[in-house]
Amino acid sequence: MTQTPPRLEIRNLRRRFGDRDVVNDVSLSIQPGHVTCLLGPSGCGKSTTLRMIAGVEMQDSGEIYVDGNLICDTVFRIPPERRQIGLMFQDFALFPHMSVGDNVAFGLKGRRDEKRARVEHLLSKVGLQWAIDDYPHVLSGGEQQRIALARALAPRPRIMLMDEPFSGLDNRLRDGIRDETLAVLKEEDTAVLLVTHEPEEAMRMADEIALMRDGRIVQQGAPYNIYNAPFDKEAVGFFSDIN
Ligand code: ADP
Ligand code: MG
Repeated sequence: MTQTPPRLEIRNLRRRFGDRDVVNDVSLSIQPGHVTCLLGPSGCGKSTTLRMIAGVEMQDSGEIYVDGNLICDTVFRIPPERRQIGLMFQDFALFPHMSVGDNVAFGLKGRRDEKRARVEHLLSKVGLQWAIDDYPHVLSGGEQQRIALARALAPRPRIMLMDEPFSGLDNRLRDGIRDETLAVLKEEDTAVLLVTHEPEEAMRMADEIALMRDGRIVQQGAPYNIYNAPFDKEAVGFFSDIN
């Protein structure tokens, strides 16, 4: 019997800066359609882990696989632009001189009408088809965030990497945008690795939480299992902030 390999798998990833193991033997895997949250306090190594998967930071050791195929170890390395990875950060980084439609079409290849159809499809998914000819600066922060999501999903990435994508948003908007984003992500056949330092966000969005501390994953599992049974006092304290 053949088993489908995980969409993303990282094995024993390590990265040292100076004399510090910033990422220390991190392993995880994500199935298509699933959201894994890498959750931990500031400075624990979340972004460095994401950057290694994206290919903009090189690991000291460990391997990265997509659909069971090696994309990077210490001798072999597929460049970032060929990894079929979508990226979203706190800073939406939309191109200010391009219309919303051109922003979303940016990473697309192929026929003009096909690109247009994909752009319209994604903009309607995020409820912003009306803004296709507008420029990003006329839109609100929440709207810009949704356009960044549409742009990242346009080329049909195998994997979405999201680094604190909601932390720049107004508190009042955040929950709504989290839910909308999750609904759109679930319709695409992508594996999502979402980095956050907010337990509340992980509880809301994750199928699985990987709790990270000092470069290591210290606990991994379904959100409610982790919430109900944090593995030590420090983890209990971390989750107790959720109201
Ligand atoms: P997080 O995203 O969890 O807040 P990071 O992965 O950004 O953590 O950083 C983890 C640690 O690694 C931090 O102490 C940070 O200062 C350090 N670090 C990150 N990048 C570099 C770098 N290029 N050179 C030296 N130290 C770095
Ligand atoms: Mg970070």
